[in-house]
Amino acid sequence: MAIGLLSTDFDGTLIGHQPDARTTAALVSALTDLRRNGGVWTVNTGRQLWFALEGLEQAHLPHDPEFVLSSEKDIFRRVEEGNWEAFGDWNARIERQTADLFGRAARVFDAIREMTSKGDGVEVLYENDRVAGLMTADVATMDRTVEMVRAASADVPEFSFSRNDVWMRFAHRDVHKGSALAELARLLAIPREAVLAIGDHQNDIPMLDGSAAAMVACPANAVDEVKDLVRSAGGYVSPFPWGEGVADAIRHFSA
Ligand SMILES: [Mg+2]
Repeated sequence: MAIGLLSTDFDGTLIGHQPDARTTAALVSALTDLRRNGGVWTVNTGRQLWFALEGLEQAHLPHDPEFVLSSEKDIFRRVEEGNWEAFGDWNARIERQTADLFGRAARVFDAIREMTSKGDGVEVLYENDRVAGLMTADVATMDRTVEMVRAASADVPEFSFSRNDVWMRFAHRDVHKGSALAELARLLAIPREAVLAIGDHQNDIPMLDGSAAAMVACPANAVDEVKDLVRSAGGYVSPFPWGEGVADAIRHFSA
């Protein structure tokens, strides 16, 4: 089936991790062809909206995506150049769900604060005046932090988190890149069979496990856990990194 909706992660997927990373000619051409064939494109990222838009501008892509799924949860639609608005009532619904959960999980946050107060390379991150996640000094510290947060939240089953390199975001277990993508596809009446998702890291796993997108892919620089998942979901592991890999995957599923 033709690609009706393309969901791409941003960092490590559309562009590499260099500070001045730009897209490639192959990706410009693949995205232009996708649009010409009626495909809709959404960026699906851990970045907040303003930061995602800043990255898109710096990346020199051929055009803006029609949608941005930001902070691994919120759905925004481009209404005109430079202006974006919440699409549907999803953002408001998951905000209520998250606020309710975080209120009930006060003990989990106490334990996390206790853990991070020791100054061992773990920093608390805030979004809109609320604790949103953690950042660690290195990957090994994040590996340990994952275990500690898992233990601290064991008795609050809805409390979950996504992990991306040295970043961790707290969330309701039903709120992630995969559920946001599934909601966007539902709002657009695009079947799962026509959805292609591409990502490189652990926080992309919920959109790459086959539940939200029947077509899944990753670039060559993806972490092994993602490559294994993409293979087991019958997807495509590109031999090319970042933007070249995304362009290659779009071509693979358009053929
Ligand atoms: Mg990434």
